Amino acid sequence: MLCPFCNAKDSRVLESRVAGENSVRRRRQCESCNRRFTTYERVEVMQLLVIKRSGSREPYTREKLRAGVSRACSKTTITAEQIDDLVDSVENELAADGKREVTAADLGEIALAKLRNLDQVAYVRFASVYRQFRSIEDFVAELHTLTGQGDPGSSAGESERITATISSTVDHKPGQRS
Ligand SMILES: [Zn+2]
Repeated sequence: MLCPFCNAKDSRVLESRVAGENSVRRRRQCESCNRRFTTYERVEVMQLLVIKRSGSREPYTREKLRAGVSRACSKTTITAEQIDDLVDSVENELAADGKREVTAADLGEIALAKLRNLDQVAYVRFASVYRQFRSIEDFVAELHTLTGQGDPGSSAGESERITATISSTVDHKPGQRS
């Protein structure tokens, strides 16, 4: 993105905000003249269709994915900008694959893989929705795959914290069963 004032090539992103469906507003500062300007990025995955579990298709919407990720990230230290970046990278991956359709399950898995690197609590919460875990045992099994990778002693506290969070998530889960 060229600076509109001096045409320099490099700018620094000061802030990113969702500016409506499939659009991100970025406040930038030119590295060369230090003046600030705003850009809008629009993703090209708008034609992408999401195949739902029932087999019906609906257009992909950024807002829907972002809302799901945001819910999973509530009460964690993840910032709005990190969520935007995550959704960006999901969309970039889909665009790079050049697919016209993606199943809701695959979409969820892509987001999950990225969340896993960001925050374990958010990861498990998101997994609970996309993989439709039915019971606390399913959550615990998933937890073990997460915490089993490290030293079991040092991760015990973290595991309890996640389990507590999951319990409250399960309690408040709306009665959607497939
Ligand atoms: Zn400039």
